[in-house]
Amino acid sequence: MSRFLRARLQNFTSYTPGEQPRNEQLIKLNTNESPFPPAPAVVEAARREAALCHLYSDPSCTALRQRAAEVWDVEPEMVLPVNGSDEVLNFAFMAFGGEGVAYPAVSYGFYPVLAGLHNVPALEVPLREDFSIDFRDYLGLYRTVVLANPNAPTGLALPLEEVEAVVAGNPGNVVVIDEAYVDFGAESALPLTKKYENLLVTRTFSKSHSLAGARLGFAIGNPALIRDLETVKFATNPYSVNRMTLAMGEAAFRENGYYLQNCRVIAENRDYTAGRLRELGFRLTDSKANFLFARSDRIGGLALYRALRERGILVRHFDAPAVSDFNRVTVGTRAQMDAFLDTVTSILSQQEANHD
Ligand SMILES: *Cc1c(COP(=O)(O)O)cnc(C)c1O
Repeated sequence: MSRFLRARLQNFTSYTPGEQPRNEQLIKLNTNESPFPPAPAVVEAARREAALCHLYSDPSCTALRQRAAEVWDVEPEMVLPVNGSDEVLNFAFMAFGGEGVAYPAVSYGFYPVLAGLHNVPALEVPLREDFSIDFRDYLGLYRTVVLANPNAPTGLALPLEEVEAVVAGNPGNVVVIDEAYVDFGAESALPLTKKYENLLVTRTFSKSHSLAGARLGFAIGNPALIRDLETVKFATNPYSVNRMTLAMGEAAFRENGYYLQNCRVIAENRDYTAGRLRELGFRLTDSKANFLFARSDRIGGLALYRALRERGILVRHFDAPAVSDFNRVTVGTRAQMDAFLDTVTSILSQQEANHD
């Protein structure tokens, strides 16, 4: 730390991204990326656009907005393309954090980081014993509410009626529904954006649309909310979505069939892997996302993480006491999941041989 850092940030803890190994050949199941590459037409779109990179990107993202609005059946003024949904979460905390925010005590690690960065008072609402969210805890808090649906890292989804109850129950505050994983099997709140002026839905193409490295997210909501977010965007980085990413996003909307199919395969692989882990004695949440959240009575969470790492498989372990018995395992291809399951099986039998 330099002596120039402002006092408020001197004890600030930033977000720790999952490891991105550079030189090792690892099976990478730690950051919820898609195991499938972008569709060929999407790669081609980026290639074409690269030749125009001497010119700034369109700060209004007009073409992509239009396309997104058609696909999601909303108006273009209700959509803001952004540089990954992390960017728009940041904008939302800046724009709407005011009186304070509330989010689940176990959820996406970026929420507390953003609350700290912007000095927004945060209420961390406990989950039930089984990690589920009781939507009634979010009624009448007089704060901005942020819920990931499905939640991370638990994968548990709220039904649309409960999401709607939270939105309707907080008419004086913005409710942000972070739908990073919605394409893998949860109900989207997008249709409600036309009905409620306080609902902001965020989406990302990082997980379901194989574009984690391109950085593309969206906010969808009432035009007035979107204008507020745009004010923050134009005050920070008007060209935040680069030309290649804008073009890839448009092309990706046209290749919807490819992504739907990939999401279906991932959901099948998820349910297959969950079944086999249960046979090995693991306990899992009922994940509707592209990851599993699993613990075993036969081995601790950190010990399993380390044993997998030694054997070339990377999963995500969180130190927080509430979840430190668990690992979050991204769902990859069937071959990756079989390699993971074989490795877990052999770790467990070695562990038990050592104990005998
Ligand atoms: C991955 C993730 C994001 C961020 O996605 P980007 O678009 O890559 O910034 C947001 N929310 C949740 C819950 C996530 O897991």
